[in-house]
Amino acid sequence: MEEVTQINGTGISEAEIGAYWLEEDYIYPSEEFVRKAYIQNQPFLNKFKEENFPECFHEYANLLSWDRYWTTTLDSSNPPFWRWFVGGKLNACYNCVDRHLDKYKNKAAIIWVSESVDEPDRILTYQELYVKVNEFASLLLEMGLKAGDTVTFHLPMVPELPISMLACARLGIIHSEVFGGFSGQACGERIADSKSKILITIDGYYRSGKFIDHKANADIAVATAEKLGQKVEKVLIWTRHPGTYSSKTPLVEGRDLLLDDLMKKHRGKRVDYVPMPSESILFLMYTSGSTGKPKGCAHSTGGYLSYVAGTSKFIHDIHPEDVHWCMADIGWITGHSYIVYGPLANAATSVMYEGVPLYPNVNRVWRIAERLGVSILHTAPTAIRMLMRAGSNPTQYKCDFRLLVTVGEPIEPEVWRWYYKVVGKKGAVVLDTWWQTETGGWLCTTIPSVMPMKPGSAGPGALGIYPVIYDELGNEVLPGSGKAGNLCIKNPWPGRMLTIWGDPERLVKQYYEKYCKNRDSKDWRDWPYFSGDAATMAKDGYIRVLGRVDDVINVAGHRLGTKEIESAALTCEEVAEAAVVPKSDELRGHVPDLYVSLKSGYETDNKHLEDKIKQAISSIIGPIARPANVYVVSDMPKTRSGKIMRRILAAISNNREDYGDITTLVNPDVVEEIRNIVRGE
Ligand code: ATP
Ligand code: MG
Repeated sequence: MEEVTQINGTGISEAEIGAYWLEEDYIYPSEEFVRKAYIQNQPFLNKFKEENFPECFHEYANLLSWDRYWTTTLDSSNPPFWRWFVGGKLNACYNCVDRHLDKYKNKAAIIWVSESVDEPDRILTYQELYVKVNEFASLLLEMGLKAGDTVTFHLPMVPELPISMLACARLGIIHSEVFGGFSGQACGERIADSKSKILITIDGYYRSGKFIDHKANADIAVATAEKLGQKVEKVLIWTRHPGTYSSKTPLVEGRDLLLDDLMKKHRGKRVDYVPMPSESILFLMYTSGSTGKPKGCAHSTGGYLSYVAGTSKFIHDIHPEDVHWCMADIGWITGHSYIVYGPLANAATSVMYEGVPLYPNVNRVWRIAERLGVSILHTAPTAIRMLMRAGSNPTQYKCDFRLLVTVGEPIEPEVWRWYYKVVGKKGAVVLDTWWQTETGGWLCTTIPSVMPMKPGSAGPGALGIYPVIYDELGNEVLPGSGKAGNLCIKNPWPGRMLTIWGDPERLVKQYYEKYCKNRDSKDWRDWPYFSGDAATMAKDGYIRVLGRVDDVINVAGHRLGTKEIESAALTCEEVAEAAVVPKSDELRGHVPDLYVSLKSGYETDNKHLEDKIKQAISSIIGPIARPANVYVVSDMPKTRSGKIMRRILAAISNNREDYGDITTLVNPDVVEEIRNIVRGE
């Protein structure tokens, strides 16, 4: 046991405070990691220097097989609608499946793990994936679907999801997967937005041991879409237990078709892939909806696939012998990019898990990782906090991770350290990757073999990405100044969405209007990308994301990042999660209001704890950041992708009812509960 000296009676040890600030210290990758990595030296990084832009991205595009090579690397004639590798043609399915058959026919492409511990894994080799994708593509073709049509999926984590995606990609059909956990209504709204005539779904799936009747959602989705003016002609239904329809919801005659029956005719069929123009749309993906109405991001075939193939190889460092497990859901961009397209383009083995991390017990994740020999684990701070909170113990298992990825929210240094020390046993590299649905792939991250880690900071710009921080007036906030500002990217990159589906003006307005230097200019240098996140940049170029720009709290003229305050709250051992929001204050403009949930086994009704947390924040950041109130709640309002929706808490703190769009909220019941706590009811 380390000896603990308490500071100012806060209950926080000196060691902990020291460790908190450790985030400005570097932690280096192990020699073993470096020896094996793809990127070994500076000359490779030099290829991505600003003077080599945009041709540097040939390094990524050349990882793919093109049916026709491109003639223009970057067409910037219509800013900010950049087009990459113009003139080129390729097929995403061919690149993720067919071309690996020569060498990797027998290799596992996808290992699917059921939520039930009793059900065997389903392992699809590249050959089996090829066969299934072709058969399904043959059916899509028979249904009259063709390149450029859109099809919506409402599928959970089953192998039929990547099979359906790749079958669409084979034919140039645009797929739009709606996260399986979304309601029928949310799915229907996205069907209407994407103008799909076909919905692909499943009878049901398992969640925390229960069979969820998912087909019921399809009926609601179709009705919702129709109300919004979009007729769904056919609903294609996979079955969770092939051969048996397990839903209690009846089939609608003439509309609903069971794929078990339909597929029989297509057994053994092969379908030629369709070479698609580089700038054709591969898929639509809606953002999480943390800050408002979700945006339908349209991603391109050539640019997107190059970008995820390149980042998966050179940054993710996925080797053919790695077993890669990204715990995200394929219903989010992380799953599209880093379960399906990036890893498969690199002939990797990608693990898919059907269920929740804590089922049937807190150590399920480590059992799976140990059994499959997972070498790269990829998850989000929300999942790591959930495991920590539940008392999960990876050290009891023979897990041997080489790389641990975190994505989706800023990771508090406390949580980072648990991931690094306890999960990675100080041997694995932690990669904190900052990006967005809109960006297709990672934008800020370290290159694990050649750059040290810094807990709580994503790295500098990824290869070929040049971040910059601007203040409100568009002046550059210099690296190392310690000042926060708006995180922007100076240059275009191949992974950025082509457009917002059905609303191209929103792309200009939301991401470019703020810092565009000259709207008539065709020079990309005049069109920096505004991410909407607040961040600081250290002298070494490392980015620390502090939260959303709109979430930054201005107390008497001091701009405080939500993440700074929340990280400080997390130094109290009782605290599992923390979220801070601005509360209007006559005197100071705003004051911070803090919401916390506790680890299991701690009393929620504890005045002493509130004081301790306030005190911790005062001593770590300064009295200016001291919360006006600390509310202990049972859970935070979260999006279905696991992010805390601070705007709801802000509305409650300020006694407003305007929560905005809450259809993406996973736990609506908690809103009422929190409101009662705040009102003291
Ligand atoms: P919406 O755009 O609809 O409000 P959203 O921004 O939550 O929803 P996503 O595209 O899923 O939708 O999330 C991207 C956001 O997640 C980023 O803008 C950033 O705020 C946060 N984020 C992602 N990765 C990181 C990271 N490594 N560190 C800090 N924040 C991150
Ligand atoms: Mg966003």
